Amino acid sequence: MKKSCCKKNIMPDMFLVRVANYFHSIKALHSRANTYKTKTGRALLALSEIKARLNICVNCDKFTGNHCKECGCCTGAANSYFNKLAFPTEECPHPDGPKWGKII
Ligand code: SF4
Repeated sequence: MKKSCCKKNIMPDMFLVRVANYFHSIKALHSRANTYKTKTGRALLALSEIKARLNICVNCDKFTGNHCKECGCCTGAANSYFNKLAFPTEECPHPDGPKWGKII
């Protein structure tokens, strides 16, 4: 099974763990952003790709409405560095296996 960039099974209300997870994700994005940016002209996913991931999340038992209970990350429709779904380097951390995968 592929390993997620996020740590799994954290308590989402543990603020410091969520912050640490976020910086781990930013570091992973930064290390591979040039490759993706060269290919697409942008560092984050297109809105249509983010919405496709969000459509999967809204039907998931781990979705709270604005974040994932499994990893604590924010999951929404915004093309933003504060949205896990916009990161091409991220994948779903669901315990039954990823419901969506990394692009790079
Ligand atoms: S487990 Fe995956 S599909 Fe479910 S809310 Fe979290 S990121 Fe979305």
